[in-house]
Amino acid sequence: MTKKLNDRELLDLALKCNRCGTCQDVCPTYLITGRETDVARSRIRLIRMVAEGKYAWGEEAELSEHLKSCLLCKACVTACPSNVPTDEIMMHARNEINNVKGMPLFNRIAYRGIFSHSGRLALLARLLRLYQRSFASSLVRKSGFLNLLRNYGKAEALLPPIPEKSLKARLPELIRTPPQVKHTVVYFAGCAINAFYGRFGAATIEVLQHNHCRVHAPAVVCCGGPHLSGGDFEEARELARNNIDTILHLQPDAVVSDCATCSGIMKEYEKLFENDPDYLEKSRTFVAKIRDVSEFLLEIGIEKPSGTIDATVTVHDPCHLSRGQKLADAPRQLLAKIDGLKRVEMEDAEMCCGGAGSYGALHPDASRQILARKMTGYDQSGAHYLATSCPACAMQLEFGLRHHSLEGSVVHPIELLAKAYTHIPEAS
Ligand code: SF4
Ligand code: SF4
Repeated sequence: MTKKLNDRELLDLALKCNRCGTCQDVCPTYLITGRETDVARSRIRLIRMVAEGKYAWGEEAELSEHLKSCLLCKACVTACPSNVPTDEIMMHARNEINNVKGMPLFNRIAYRGIFSHSGRLALLARLLRLYQRSFASSLVRKSGFLNLLRNYGKAEALLPPIPEKSLKARLPELIRTPPQVKHTVVYFAGCAINAFYGRFGAATIEVLQHNHCRVHAPAVVCCGGPHLSGGDFEEARELARNNIDTILHLQPDAVVSDCATCSGIMKEYEKLFENDPDYLEKSRTFVAKIRDVSEFLLEIGIEKPSGTIDATVTVHDPCHLSRGQKLADAPRQLLAKIDGLKRVEMEDAEMCCGGAGSYGALHPDASRQILARKMTGYDQSGAHYLATSCPACAMQLEFGLRHHSLEGSVVHPIELLAKAYTHIPEAS
C-alpha cells in the first residue's frame, strides 16, 4: 500500500528475501497444503522472475493464482528475519496484473460497484435479510442452485443473520451527549459493521459515551481496505480523500474504529499520498488521530465496569490488529477489567481465521481448511465467548461455529464491556 512501484523498485524489495524458509512455519496457506508454491518465499520468487523480465504480468494464469491466494495476513512479514514486506509486494503485484488484464469481475462488482457506495451495501444487506427470512433461502439451498454458482454459491453460508436496521439508521437513538464531556471523537462506522454487525457499533458508542466521549458519526465511506487488497490503489485513494475531508473538519480528538481492518488501513493512509502534496499533510494529521477502540479506551483510562460476567472468554487476534497495529494485548487488557470474566488463551489465537475480507468467498476450500484449525483451538479452550475485534473475522468465526456445530458466541470485546457497564445482555 504505497505509491506505485516500478519493476526495479519491486525487484529490490523481492531481493530482500534470502530464501531462509522461516515463513514456512507461519504461512496459513502453506500449512494447509504443504506446497512450496503456497508460501511467501515462493510468491516472492515468482514476482522476482517477472520483475527480472522472465515473465510478463498476467501472462501465466498459474502465477497470478499463487499471488491471489495469499491472505495478506502478515504472518510471514512478522516472522521474516529480512523484513520482507510480502503483503505490500502482493498488493503491488495484483495492481500490475490489473493493469494488464483488467480488474477481476468480482472486484469490479463487489468493491467498486458496492463497497465504494455505502448506500448500495445497505440496500444489498436489506435484500439479503429478506432472502434470509423468506422461504426462498431454504428452497435455494435445497435446489442445488448454489452448487451451480461454485465458489460464489458457498459464500452464501458465510452470511450472518442480518439485523433489521443498519447501524447508521440506529444512530439517532444511540447518540446522546454524555455528562462531563472530556473527549470529542469521531466514530468510524465501517461497511461491515454498518450492514451486518450494528451490535458492535452500538456497544462501542455506548462504551465511549459511558467514558465521557462526545461521539460524532459522520457519513463516511469504505476505508478502502478491500480495494487495496485487490490492488486497486486508485479507488482506495479516492475513498481515503473522501474520509479525510469528511472527518478532519470536525476537529475530533480521535477517530475511533471498532473494526481492526478499518483502523489498520486508515493508519496507513499517508502512504497513499506520497505523490500528492495536497493530501500528504492532511493524511498525516488524520493518521495521528486514528485509534482502534481498545487502544483508545486504554489510552483515556476507562471507568471500571460495576457489573460482572460469569463466563469464560478467549480472544481471536485479527491480523490487522495484532500484526498490523501491534495491539494484540489491548482487547485482553480491557477484558481483564470485567469482574467474573475468566480469560483463557486458545491454540493459534494469532493465526488468521481464513476470512481475510473476501478470501472466504473467493477461496472457500482453503478458507475452510484454515478455519477448521481455528475452530479446533476454540473448541479445546472451553470458552463460552470467542471475542474478536473485526467484523470480517466475526463473520468467518460465526460460520465456523455453525459449520462445526460448536456451542458458543462470537462477540466483539467491546460488547462484553458494554454488558458489564449496563448490566444488560448484549444486543442480538
Ligand atoms: S522468512 Fe522472509 S527472507 Fe525468509 S524465505 Fe520467507 S520471505 Fe524470504
Ligand atoms: S501474507 Fe499470510 S498467506 Fe500471504 S504469504 Fe504471508 S503468511 Fe502466507
